[in-house]
Amino acid sequence: MSLIFLPPLQKINSEIARNAGVELYVLRLDLMHPWVNGNKWFKLKYNLLEAKEKNFRTLLTFGGAYSNHIYATAAAGNLFGFGTIGVIRGEERLPLNPTLNFAVQQGMQLVYLNREMYRQRNTAALHEYLQQRFGEVFIIPEGGSNLNGVRGCTEIVSKAMPTAGYAYAFDHICVACGTATTLAGIALSLHQKQRAIAFPVLKNGAFLAQEIKSLLTNYLASGLPAPYSSPADWELVCDYHFGGYAKVNDELLLFNQQFTQQHGVPLDYVYTAKMFYGVMDLLKQGFFCKGDSLLLVHTGGLQGNVGIEERCIEI
Ligand SMILES: *Cc1c(COP(=O)(O)O)cnc(C)c1O
Repeated sequence: MSLIFLPPLQKINSEIARNAGVELYVLRLDLMHPWVNGNKWFKLKYNLLEAKEKNFRTLLTFGGAYSNHIYATAAAGNLFGFGTIGVIRGEERLPLNPTLNFAVQQGMQLVYLNREMYRQRNTAALHEYLQQRFGEVFIIPEGGSNLNGVRGCTEIVSKAMPTAGYAYAFDHICVACGTATTLAGIALSLHQKQRAIAFPVLKNGAFLAQEIKSLLTNYLASGLPAPYSSPADWELVCDYHFGGYAKVNDELLLFNQQFTQQHGVPLDYVYTAKMFYGVMDLLKQGFFCKGDSLLLVHTGGLQGNVGIEERCIEI
C-alpha cells in the first residue's frame, strides 16, 4: 500500500480566521494520489487488505453514476491487482459520464440496477444473487462504509500527519459528513481534549447522531484497533447542507471559486465546499475561541465536480 503518498498539510492565511484569532490548516487528502485519494482511500484500505488476505481476486461494490467511491475502487483495484465490478444505481446512460468512463478504463465492469433493486444493496438476498452471477467476489458496501472503513479513517488524522505528534496540536477537526463513517474513525483517533465537528451534507442531518453512536459502539465492540477506549467529543453542525445532497446554489458556487482563487485549494461541491463554507461562516459568528487551531480535512471528491458543473450549465 506504499503507492499512496502522505497528504500535505497546508496553512490557510485568511483574514476571517485572523480576525477570529484562529489558525486554519487543511489536510489535503485530495493530493495523496491522482485517483486513489480522499477519505475513500482510507475507507478502502482495510477492505482491500481483507480481500487480499482471503484470496479474493475481484472486488464488487455499489454507487451512483458520479460516485467518488466507484471511481476510487476502480483505480485502487487496478493499482493493487484486483478485478472490479461496479453496481451502479439506475439505468445505463450512454455515452458514459466521465466518472464511469474512467472506471471502465481502469478495468471495472459495470452493472446497472434499477432503483428498487439498488435499495436492497445491503441485503443478503441481493449479495447471494450477485455472488451467483459473478462468482467469488469480495463485496464492499456503498461508500466503503463498514467497520473496515472506520478503521481506515482512524488513520486520517493520527497517521497521515507529515510530522508525528502534530495531530495533537489541533483543537477542532472539521469534516464533511455523508454516512459519518469518516467522522467515526476520526473521533476514535483523537485525544480527549480534541473535538471533531461534522458537517452533514444531507438535509435534516441531525438523524446522524444516532447512527454515529451505534457506529462507535459497534466499532469498539468489534475489537478492531482503536487508540483510545472512548471516542473524543464530536458534534454535528447541520446548517450547511444547501438544500440537500448534491444541491448547490450560486452562493456556494461563488464561494468555491473564490476560495480556490485565494488559497489555492480546489473544493468539491457535494462535500468539502459545504464544510469549508460552514467553517468560514462559523468563524465570522465567533463560534470558535481565540487561540483555537482548526484542522479541516479535505476529503477529496474533486472528480465529481464534472457532474455538478454539467448540471449547472444545463440550468
Ligand atoms: C464520501 C465522501 C464524504 C463522506 O464520507 P462519509 O464517511 O460517508 O461521511 C466526504 N467527502 C467526500 C469528498 C466524499 O467523497
